Amino acid sequence: MEKISIVVPCYNEQESIPYFYKEVKKVIKKMSNLSFELLFVDDGSKDNTLQVVKELSEKDNLVRYITFSRNFGKEAAMLAGLENATGDYITIMDADLQDPPALLPEMYRLIKEEGYDTVGTRRTTREGEPVIRSFFARKFYKIINKMSKVEMVDGARDYRLMTRQVVDSIISIKEYNRYSKGLFSFVGYKTKWIEFENVERVAGTTKWSFWKLFKYALEGIVAFTTAPLSLASVLGVILCIFSFIGIIVIIVKTLMFGDKVSGWPSLACILLFVSGVQLLCMGIIGQYLAKTYLETKKRPIYIIKEMK
Ligand code: UDP
Ligand code: MG
Repeated sequence: MEKISIVVPCYNEQESIPYFYKEVKKVIKKMSNLSFELLFVDDGSKDNTLQVVKELSEKDNLVRYITFSRNFGKEAAMLAGLENATGDYITIMDADLQDPPALLPEMYRLIKEEGYDTVGTRRTTREGEPVIRSFFARKFYKIINKMSKVEMVDGARDYRLMTRQVVDSIISIKEYNRYSKGLFSFVGYKTKWIEFENVERVAGTTKWSFWKLFKYALEGIVAFTTAPLSLASVLGVILCIFSFIGIIVIIVKTLMFGDKVSGWPSLACILLFVSGVQLLCMGIIGQYLAKTYLETKKRPIYIIKEMK
């Protein structure tokens, strides 16, 4: 019998998990020709998530869990889940039911019958989300797709069903700064996208503030393209050309009209502009340097405290 592992990253989800469990069990019942494993990854929750999961695992032996020594973030939780899942097919679902478990039978069928290696899901709407957030999200996808060779699909969720082979490829990537949307796309394979309308979370609150999302977006850019680094060279060349023209103009002017002390305001402006550009470029280099620094430390991506 083939087995599907469902990996569920959870951070402070004590209210959502019971709903989630109920929904997933319905789907599992429908897919009776398969065996299942429900792997909850408790990402250092501060509420009773772990107790809720432990109780489930005592009643139901499909339920397994991993718990971290502290909060390491969803990326780390997903990786721990993928590394410890034992199924032939593996899927990642949010605990808040924003990734409808009901799509699973269709996803499985697409892999099984139509020969896809992975089936991803994307939201077609962003209803229920703040307007500014949607606006920046759209812009982000435009920008990163221009800069990066790896394609990032707008609205793509982390909810996807993958074959064992795809998962093995993903966990073979050992980088510390993990941006999964990019990694899923980086490994390639035949991918089918299915679409659904945005669903609001059943209980609890989102863990993402605007600022956190913004930083996450920057992380995606730094992890998947080095295009910003070339900004320094491009701006440098442009400024060199300008200054060369400027020098000639000044020499000619001085020779023809003599040198009066004037023009210091424009000089101050130029100075400010150029040093601003320099600092910006240094900042960009700093971002990449910081990531390289973290990468070379080779710290573990997560630390498991307990597991079943
Ligand atoms: N999550 C996690 N670690 C974190 C933050 C979130 O494991 O540090 C989990 C969370 O429990 C949920 C999923 O990641 O199952 C998505 O989080 P959330 O619903 O807050 O994000 P949103 O859907 O609002 O983008
Ligand atoms: Mg959510």
